[in-house]
Amino acid sequence: MSRMPAVFFGHGSPMNAIEHNRFTESWAEFGRQVGKPRAVLAVSAHWYVGHTAVTAMQKPKTIHDFFGFPQQLFDVEYPAPGDAGLAREVATALGPTWVGEDLDSWGIDHGTWSVLVHVFPHADVPVVQLAIDMNKPLAEHLDLGAKLNGLRDDGVLVMGSGNVVHNLRAMDWSKPDAGFDWNDSFDSYVREIMTTNPQSLVEVDRHPHFREAVPTPDHFLPLAYIAGIAAEAGTKAEVLVGGPQYGSLSMTSYVVR
Ligand code: ZN
Repeated sequence: MSRMPAVFFGHGSPMNAIEHNRFTESWAEFGRQVGKPRAVLAVSAHWYVGHTAVTAMQKPKTIHDFFGFPQQLFDVEYPAPGDAGLAREVATALGPTWVGEDLDSWGIDHGTWSVLVHVFPHADVPVVQLAIDMNKPLAEHLDLGAKLNGLRDDGVLVMGSGNVVHNLRAMDWSKPDAGFDWNDSFDSYVREIMTTNPQSLVEVDRHPHFREAVPTPDHFLPLAYIAGIAAEAGTKAEVLVGGPQYGSLSMTSYVVR
């Protein structure tokens, strides 16, 4: 099987699952071009817990982990199978970090399925999720990502799903296609890092607007896994699609070939 890319998707609002815009179109185009991987390993902002874990059940459930959205969104099911074998491979690759194998707690959350409904609309590629340990510093998430690089040679598409800039309190619904200056500034800074020297993402908090752009680490950290893969592979990321939404979100997505 040929080597799979690694990809970070800026997922934004859950509504992107049922909408069609230039971001969702770029996700769908990526899916058409990438072919069919053996499996997807997804690092989602929405599985942010006190330890590292992988989903290891055969039939992961679709998790609707949001509220206040239309029923149409709660009706979305993404019935991709799990892959217990891959879960075990991931646990081995990440050693000596302890990795819990989850059989009955999590599943496929909206960070993952809101994107995958566009990338692989037939839900015919097995999906394993990797939880983000909230107690680890940024550098350790890059190191964990680096350990996943080898899976790409076995046909595994490693994806991160979050947002480079994700400040919900500052969102402005009157700016669907625009970003505040501090958003654009931080997004450009991260773009420079990812496309020149992804390992230097560990120093991203030096940016003067880091606190506004990343008020909590959950949506940013999936990018660290993709940066770690790029660094381990000795390469850089390319921008898949870029741009802000609602003032305080960045939808910028990256691919590592
Ligand atoms: Zn999210």
